[in-house]
Amino acid sequence: MTTSKSGARGTLEQAGKAEVPAFDLSSRTIAYFSMEIALAPQIPTYSGGLGVLAGDTLRSAADTGAPMVAVSLCHRKGYFEQHLDAGGRQTETDVCWSPETALPAAGECLTLTMQGRQIKVCAWRFDVVGVGGHVIPVFLLDTDMEGNDPYDRRLTDKLYGGDTYYRLCQEMVLGLGGVHLLHKLGCLPAVYHMNEGHAALLALGLLEDRLPPGASLASATEEDRLAVAEQCVFTTHTPVPAGHDQFGLDQMYAVLGDERARTIERFGGLHNNLLNMTYVALRFSRWVNGVAMQHGKVSQKMFPDYYVESVTNGVHAATWLAPPLQRLFDAEMPRWRHDNSYFRSIYGIKPSRIANAHRVGKRRLVETVAARTGEALNESVLTLGFARRVATYKRASLLLEDPKRLARIAKKIGGLQIVFAGKAHPADTAGKGLIQEVFEIAGKIATGSLRIVYLENYDWELGGILTQGVDVWINTPRRPYEASGTSGMKAALNGVPSLSVLDGWWIEGCAEDVTGWAIDDGDSDAAEATSLYDKLENRIAPLYGRPNAWARMQQHCIAINGSFFNTDRMLGQYFSNAYFPLAPVTEATPEAEKKGEAVPPMPSPLVTAGV
Ligand SMILES: *Cc1c(COP(=O)(O)O)cnc(C)c1O
Repeated sequence: MTTSKSGARGTLEQAGKAEVPAFDLSSRTIAYFSMEIALAPQIPTYSGGLGVLAGDTLRSAADTGAPMVAVSLCHRKGYFEQHLDAGGRQTETDVCWSPETALPAAGECLTLTMQGRQIKVCAWRFDVVGVGGHVIPVFLLDTDMEGNDPYDRRLTDKLYGGDTYYRLCQEMVLGLGGVHLLHKLGCLPAVYHMNEGHAALLALGLLEDRLPPGASLASATEEDRLAVAEQCVFTTHTPVPAGHDQFGLDQMYAVLGDERARTIERFGGLHNNLLNMTYVALRFSRWVNGVAMQHGKVSQKMFPDYYVESVTNGVHAATWLAPPLQRLFDAEMPRWRHDNSYFRSIYGIKPSRIANAHRVGKRRLVETVAARTGEALNESVLTLGFARRVATYKRASLLLEDPKRLARIAKKIGGLQIVFAGKAHPADTAGKGLIQEVFEIAGKIATGSLRIVYLENYDWELGGILTQGVDVWINTPRRPYEASGTSGMKAALNGVPSLSVLDGWWIEGCAEDVTGWAIDDGDSDAAEATSLYDKLENRIAPLYGRPNAWARMQQHCIAINGSFFNTDRMLGQYFSNAYFPLAPVTEATPEAEKKGEAVPPMPSPLVTAGV
């Protein structure tokens, strides 16, 4: 881990490395904006699924030679490191890093006016390098500049930290700062992709840059709004209301200033009399999508006045695939690194070879658990994994709903091991309580045949070890709140079936008894837990007892789900449906239109050569 102990820092201009290779950004036609991006395991610029998806998207863009560039914030104090005491009580520490010690400067800075004062914004460049050497430059905006107000210097420090005022300032830096920086660097993308509403204020930057120099935003017309929308693509990521940023009008006026705030208001960016980033993004995009087929439909109901499409998420195969499986595939079908469709041909590889490779990953998991907790798990015992951001709708404790039955099953099937991990947001008291609940139940029911461990600090590295090492991946969200979920995709890629509620991606990925099992829909937590236990006892454990059949299931997971739920396929869909569609999208009929209500005109698709 790079730390921030590295003493005094000069100005960005001094720190920037002289030998930065010049980058011709003029050919970059797509700009991807995201508040978080998981760039490398040691760089704390992400919190969870959204950032991992953003990073995986860019890694696939690099592998496939896509003409992209990306923008985020540098997050000097990152997201937090989690500590859990013996009772499962969570505390947090910052994870600091110093971009200037690792990265070249972007070469340009800019001045933004916000909160009624000027703020200098510079950036660092992180290069995502693809398998064939193609580079996707990622600009990490930084306000820690001499001369800036002390408050403003801290704006790009903490991912999802601070209060709503701080968050709104961050979104100004990301959206407006990002657009103006790209333009200064000579980059004039045809498409701006807002990865979640955090980036929606980039629309203001595009509006400003459209107007003649010195012209007031008050002169922007509906035609200007449509022209901006023509350039923008918006992906919404959650049906959970808390996931949609909202800010009071007082904060909007204080941070944006009168002119910009009035423009947002005039063009429909408010909802329930609050500045709503999702609505800003909807108003300024020509394409909107959810992140799995069902999530698109759920979002369509939430936003009946807009067309909402679906592009199901994926994961970057080379990032998440266990090394022994990588070696196996390199030997048998080396083109997988350029084209993930080759995973389908795994049916030509003996299942036992896949099982053997998986066993290496399981051993690594057992070693990790021993090193971190002192618990000695058994490599030949059925092992379940549950790791995710701890939010109430994810129901981390559903697996422990009936501890007595779980203990009975464990005894009957010759042992059961469960590995938990997950962070609660520092301000989420309910989430923190859930971790304690898991600790408490686990402490009471653990026996010789049932072993339960909770690993601290779920992050990229641990996410890999878990999804590559367990036998079955568990997911128990309350429907329909799981927009997609991607950890189960990482598991599938590694030959690990899921036992999951039919929500998010699993509706598309579940072939019962072939790629995993569905937890049946019930009208209570208890009913769904019963289904989970039934499947575990009657389907999963017996299959696990038949190694050849289990190995065939591992093969199906990779062939059927690994070949599809990857970011190579996903990015291809974004290109042909959203970025540069070959034909207008006419399928979706917004609810409002069905009801005969006025629907905002659907701008014609952008037709641009380039890919
Ligand atoms: C993949 C990943 C996630 C997202 O997984 P979900 O299934 O959406 O919960 C979150 N955090 C980490 C560290 C990951 O690696």
